[in-house]
Amino acid sequence: MTDEGGGAPAEQRVAVKTEIVVIGAGQAGLSSAYHLKRRGVAAGRGFVVLDQNPIPGGAWQHRWPSLTLSTVNRIHDLPGLSFAEAVPAAGDDVEAAVAVPRYFAEYESRFGLPVYRPVTVRVVCERGGRFRIETDRETFSARGLINATGTWETPYVPDYPGHELFRGRQLHTHDYRTAAEFAGQHVLIVGGGISAIQLLDEISKVARTSWATRTPPRWREGPFDQEAGRAAVRLVEERVRAGLPPNAVVSVTGLPVNERTEAMRARGVLERQPMFSEITETGVRWPDGRELAVDVILWCTGFRSSLDHLAPLLLREPSGGIAMGGRLATQVVKQPRVHLVGYGPSASTVGANRAGAAAASELMETLGIAPKISA
Ligand SMILES: Cc1cc2nc3c(=O)[nH]c(=O)nc-3n(C[C@H](O)[C@H](O)[C@H](O)COP(=O)(O)OP(=O)(O)OC[C@H]3O[C@@H](n4cnc5c(N)ncnc54)[C@H](O)[C@@H]3O)c2cc1C
Repeated sequence: MTDEGGGAPAEQRVAVKTEIVVIGAGQAGLSSAYHLKRRGVAAGRGFVVLDQNPIPGGAWQHRWPSLTLSTVNRIHDLPGLSFAEAVPAAGDDVEAAVAVPRYFAEYESRFGLPVYRPVTVRVVCERGGRFRIETDRETFSARGLINATGTWETPYVPDYPGHELFRGRQLHTHDYRTAAEFAGQHVLIVGGGISAIQLLDEISKVARTSWATRTPPRWREGPFDQEAGRAAVRLVEERVRAGLPPNAVVSVTGLPVNERTEAMRARGVLERQPMFSEITETGVRWPDGRELAVDVILWCTGFRSSLDHLAPLLLREPSGGIAMGGRLATQVVKQPRVHLVGYGPSASTVGANRAGAAAASELMETLGIAPKISA
């Protein structure tokens, strides 16, 4: 890495040169970094990882305290070091926001990954065959880019008329901390995903709840087997290969039926309502005029990929999606020196792992960087 920087404004600053910049140090970015290093790309001169969080752990460090190792879906091991080996004492009741940062910190140090933090990438442009990566600190210049910025920074709230009229509290899963703060209130939970179910469960124990979803929830009896998982990922992959915006992998996996959901059903908290059509000062209203007064609207309506900093690269198709190619659909068709990992079919911990390997090897090939050790 050559530091040619100075104290000038970002647009005039001479950039720190490297071959590949990985943006984001969550599961996707760390997996990519591991595979670059393993294939002989030198830390620093060959690649750097930039992450805006203050400590290791990716978005996991921000998850609400009741999301423990037993309530997450499953956190897949990163390549080369298992969770159990890195954090041997973590029991099921440990908060994911505590355990995963410990795991990632050990991982980064064990493999000597060059993660720089906190560094926020503000914008990426292309000039003369190199990417100029402007951050809140140095500016970097690289020939290739692996973007692994996840979704946590981009919570999605659908636009319903009257949004601004509501006098109660509105918040998104992103800002949820604990059920206790809603004690005694009436909370409307919106959304049909796993997060909605978990928050509905815990909030309904201390508050009155209502639940609205766009489509009837799809319950899944029995375990989600590997073949069903692969089929779900294939559907998302087909969409991004066709240049369409991805839907969440979890949206095709369905909601698990388990002891917890059966208890919720018995308590009567799974009575789902269709989506309302507008928000009023005091609650929500359905198209037939029916109204519901609530104190809080909690939007469990998911996240979008955090990609705004890539806007100058004009990667999007007219459909709004980004056409993806390559072995695991991580390579941007319009700009093959850019890979998106943790996007579309790789937006899960297991998907991000595999995609990191594919992105590292394909990007090296595109840039003409020969692997130093066979992988
Ligand atoms: C509540 C919740 C529970 C989940 N549970 C599971 C589960 O049990 N199992 C599972 O497989 N998946 C789960 N997922 C999905 C899962 O989080 C992801 O698939 C995976 O952890 C995401 O890894 P990532 O590396 O893509 O993103 P992240 O972990 O979000 O990491 C992205 C990193 O990029 C950084 N970043 C973002 N923008 C910038 C920028 N402009 N400049 C610099 N850095 C930036 C962020 O600070 C962050 O550190 C869950 C998601 C949510 C929201």
